[in-house]
Amino acid sequence: MTAVTANADTPVLLDLPPLDAARFARIEDKVAALMRTRCDVVTTQGEALLPLEACIRSAVRPGSTALNIITGPYGETFGGWLRSCGAEVVTISAPFTGAVTAEQVADALREHPEIDFVSLVHAEAATGNTNPVAEIGAVVREHGALLMLDAVASVGAEPLLTDEWGVDLCVIGGQKALAGPAGVSVVSVSARAWERIAANEQAPRRSYLSLLDWKERWVDAGRTALPHAPAQLEMLALEQAVDRIEAEGLETVIVRHRAAAAAVRAGVAVLGGPVPYVIRDEHAAPAATTLRTPAGVDAREVVSAALAADGAVPVQAAAGALAAEMIRVNHYGRAADRAVVLASLAALAAGMRALGVAVDDEAAAAAAGAAWDEAVAAA
Ligand SMILES: *Cc1c(COP(=O)(O)O)cnc(C)c1O
Repeated sequence: MTAVTANADTPVLLDLPPLDAARFARIEDKVAALMRTRCDVVTTQGEALLPLEACIRSAVRPGSTALNIITGPYGETFGGWLRSCGAEVVTISAPFTGAVTAEQVADALREHPEIDFVSLVHAEAATGNTNPVAEIGAVVREHGALLMLDAVASVGAEPLLTDEWGVDLCVIGGQKALAGPAGVSVVSVSARAWERIAANEQAPRRSYLSLLDWKERWVDAGRTALPHAPAQLEMLALEQAVDRIEAEGLETVIVRHRAAAAAVRAGVAVLGGPVPYVIRDEHAAPAATTLRTPAGVDAREVVSAALAADGAVPVQAAAGALAAEMIRVNHYGRAADRAVVLASLAALAAGMRALGVAVDDEAAAAAAGAAWDEAVAAA
């Protein structure tokens, strides 16, 4: 038999001891603590779209009326699933330049008292905005609807208080601020949500999308036997990611993300050229900053030129309809780092200059560095 040996590029990932139920449960408990929830959690063995779809298909049925809040691309996806479950869908579409307000949500609930399910994205890495979940959660709770939250891009980057905010179904993944794996995801399920799901004859059973299967075979069975072979490597990576966050301190990790957003916004303010897409600082997601290019300057060309100057920076053009006008500067996970943020700004400046736009990269670097230091000192 040929031995597989480790080197810097390829750690050995084979022949590990099996991941047992006790270890799996311990990893779940660590993630639940990070999410600030005492509710049951289900660790779905797939990328975060799996539990998001599972939540909607489990909780929604014909006769449901859902309020779908769209502040970026994921909300569009949720709308499709909600309709395919037979729900009437009421939509709030917030412009990608800001956040949805609790007042807008309250108005929609007053206008449509039959709403029994609300889907919301906490922070959007794709559009760079973040929503006031504490306030929205209070309004939804008073109305009595279930609240599903996509917290994939917020967990670890900004406070996420699942239980305190009244979130019934909170979905997280490891691949953004946790700097972990994308292949497993966790959803917390409140007692109210379990009741609704159990009463839904249409909720998936004996299906990869079934939350009820996990409840029956894992949660209610005392978490002593796994229902099927777990995604072992991803689970171990998730544990390491959470352990690393705990070792650094969740607050410190959050401060790094806040500082990164503040630094990019401060740098861009004096760079000349692109401007923040999200208008107000308090609506800006700590995970990523989106920028609007000046009229006549194609964001894709700026990004190409920036990456030609420094191919290592986490800068990309937006997807879809916004591709020509929106630049996305990612600063989540290990990229929530002073040097990475300054390198991203320098690359953007080089890209703009290559396209003939006058920019002041020294002023941008000074302002960004000062904003980073100020955010860290204020913490
Ligand atoms: C990143 C992200 C996801 C997961 O999507 P991937 O593109 O597979 O990483 C889900 N929801 C939100 C809001 C995200 O930002």
